[in-house]
Amino acid sequence: MSKRTCAACDYELDDTAIQVRIGGAVVEVCCDECATKLKATSPHF
Ligand SMILES: [Zn+2]
Repeated sequence: MSKRTCAACDYELDDTAIQVRIGGAVVEVCCDECATKLKATSPHF
């Protein structure tokens, strides 16, 4: 759990990670494009 990765593309995250709330859970992605992609593919959103 020491390394954070993008929830959409598994890219390693740094301090510029974007937090996205999906169905009550908060996940982190590397960029706004991945945030949009994650929301589009989440059945719970
Ligand atoms: Zn990503």
